[in-house]
Amino acid sequence: MKSPQTYIDTLRELIAFDTTSRNSNLQLIDYIQSILSDRGVTSELTYDEARGKANLFATIGRGNEPGIILSGHTDVVPVDGQSWSTEPFGATIKEGRLFGRGACDMKGFIAVCLAKVDDFLSADLNTPIHFAFSYDEEVGCVGVKGLLEELKKKPIQPRACIIGEPTSMGVIRAHKGMLFKRCHVHGKSAHSSLVDQGVNAITMAAKTIAHIDSIAQRIQREGPFDQEFAPPYTTLHCGVIKGGIVNNIIPNECQFDFEIRNLPDHSPLAIFDEIDRYVKKELLPKMHEVSTDTGFEWKILADYPGLNTPLDDNMISVASNLLQTTNRPGKVSYGTEGGHFQSAGFSTIVCGPGSIEQAHKPDEYVGLDQLAKCDQFLSALIQSMD
Ligand SMILES: [Zn+2]
Repeated sequence: MKSPQTYIDTLRELIAFDTTSRNSNLQLIDYIQSILSDRGVTSELTYDEARGKANLFATIGRGNEPGIILSGHTDVVPVDGQSWSTEPFGATIKEGRLFGRGACDMKGFIAVCLAKVDDFLSADLNTPIHFAFSYDEEVGCVGVKGLLEELKKKPIQPRACIIGEPTSMGVIRAHKGMLFKRCHVHGKSAHSSLVDQGVNAITMAAKTIAHIDSIAQRIQREGPFDQEFAPPYTTLHCGVIKGGIVNNIIPNECQFDFEIRNLPDHSPLAIFDEIDRYVKKELLPKMHEVSTDTGFEWKILADYPGLNTPLDDNMISVASNLLQTTNRPGKVSYGTEGGHFQSAGFSTIVCGPGSIEQAHKPDEYVGLDQLAKCDQFLSALIQSMD
């Protein structure tokens, strides 16, 4: 058996793998697998289609009782265009902080989990601990879906899940869902002087975006509201638009991306239907008068459900007791894989070291005190389990 590694050593090694979502994460998965296999723990991998990335699932303990999942994503956001004062893929420690890409989002949590394997094993638990480490979370919670498909087939289902995204070790019980879509508008080209013979794809996209914005403003005014979220309503946003070649040609193509970040109980599909109805009623008939080859094409680029764990859920009281906190569990607007885990039937909370304020930024860091708090939390978890 390998000598026990501290979570700092482990985090240093995890950060050194550049697992930006566009890259393979297999070397990092291999590293985790070797830590586990050295201790007799087998892990199961589920790959993406190109077999360049994998999720890892492992069970520590006998596995004949419903266990608790510790969940983390192995990918990180890019450092492109960011100005770092430390080496992003090297772990620099100064003034009580460990700097590096993924330090808080969320290799710090994974490192603490891995450094605890010996403790989990020696506790000889009836209730197993599962590790669920995914790929491609940062591009819309894509990878974890394959892991959950496999997990569904297991005879004994876990009962709870802790997502270790950075919450400064507070308990988060809800987050918004997201629907991220791309729209292609197909118009018809013509000389810009002959406007009656063309369909301007940019204009049609602009009208649709203006309608999306009017829905956003109505929701902001009229709700539904949940004051525990900031902002306390579902938001709509358009972040990318492309179209046109030169000004004297009526553009026949325009493409834009938009997202809906919904309160967990507010259906994003119903909102999208409203956009679709507007397009079909107000825009398409006029476009088709000029050419029936014109139209709209929609594609889902990413989506995940919101998380909404009830206040009286057992996992909330367990975690709050272990953390010795009486704070009300919070709700956040950023997404995690928690919505997927809850949809799969597991009682789910988000609780991890570091602050979301530092995530995705240059000089991302995790406080050493936060890692220590996470380590104590997992020790307390072991003691509370049988
Ligand atoms: Zn994250």
